[in-house]
Amino acid sequence: MNGIPYLSVVIPVFNEEENLLPLTQELVSVLDSLEKSWEIIFVDDGSTDKSPEILNGIREKMPRVQVVTFKKNFGQTAAFDAGFKTARGDIIITMDADMQNDPGDIPELLESLGSYDLVCGWRNKRNDTFIRTLSSIIANSIRNTLSREDIHDVGCSLKVFKKEYVKKLKLYNGMHRFFPTLVKMEGGRVIEIIVNHRPRKYGTAKYNIRNRIIRSFVDLLAVCWMKKRTLNYEIKDKKK
Ligand code: UDP
Ligand code: MG
Repeated sequence: MNGIPYLSVVIPVFNEEENLLPLTQELVSVLDSLEKSWEIIFVDDGSTDKSPEILNGIREKMPRVQVVTFKKNFGQTAAFDAGFKTARGDIIITMDADMQNDPGDIPELLESLGSYDLVCGWRNKRNDTFIRTLSSIIANSIRNTLSREDIHDVGCSLKVFKKEYVKKLKLYNGMHRFFPTLVKMEGGRVIEIIVNHRPRKYGTAKYNIRNRIIRSFVDLLAVCWMKKRTLNYEIKDKKK
């Protein structure tokens, strides 16, 4: 690949075999329409279906696609982290591999970036089951109350970051649910933009209330602690 791309799209993948080809097609046509150089980084988080073969097939045909393959399933935050460390662009776009995020929203998110450091997608019309949608509304409201935030939809993976903020993040398992707070803790400006949300057509959702509720709550307490203890000092004078 010649030169450093301007846009890097980071996509965690865990058993998404049927989504990968149509997603890539859709995404590439949006990226090409932007007339900026780009790269796509798929991070295969230990898939046990045909995702690894399909990703390699895509990479062989498209040199602007990179594939990072984990030894086993390490979780979505780890996948984002590996993607962030691989990304070379000035702007980092994140999204899910399951086609629930719409690549068609990317141009508007990019336009909204301006003086902000993170633009978060807000799925105000969720296309998930009633239980998933309701649990996410409750989770967001508990998260906002305890961490004194006002983010409607922290779980939407469709986000656009300025590179410097991605590089500043020190991530721990589960922290992908707190990107807006982490960016603000680094002094970044965050905005939310309403985006499309589509039903999952292929494959199955990887999270349910049982495997999320306790862990997310513990993670929330950790983030509240970090937020409260953030170093925030101003130097009055420094003499040599
Ligand atoms: N994913 C992953 N590792 C995991 C679980 C999920 O990389 O351990 C990926 C998954 O393939 C998808 C995204 O993270 O691209 C979000 O997962 P999913 O759509 O199941 O969750 P939702 O956000 O819709 O609840
Ligand atoms: Mg999904």
